[in-house]
Amino acid sequence: MKLSVDSEKCIGCGRCEEICPSVFHIDEELALSKIIDNEGCEYVGCCEAAAENCPVEAIYYEP
Ligand code: SF4
Repeated sequence: MKLSVDSEKCIGCGRCEEICPSVFHIDEELALSKIIDNEGCEYVGCCEAAAENCPVEAIYYEP
């Protein structure tokens, strides 16, 4: 699985963390999403949902 967040695009809205908290965490100081566990959603499919729901398409996900 390939997963990354484009820090140039991310606006720190927190939606990815709401959807997939085992993988994404918002750095409050930087107001950016960070990936804390690259494999954390492998069996639940939440990374895909987070990518689909990112308002600025900052999440790159490839199974
Ligand atoms: S949903 Fe997208 S814009 Fe919002 S914090 Fe996550 S990566 Fe950033």
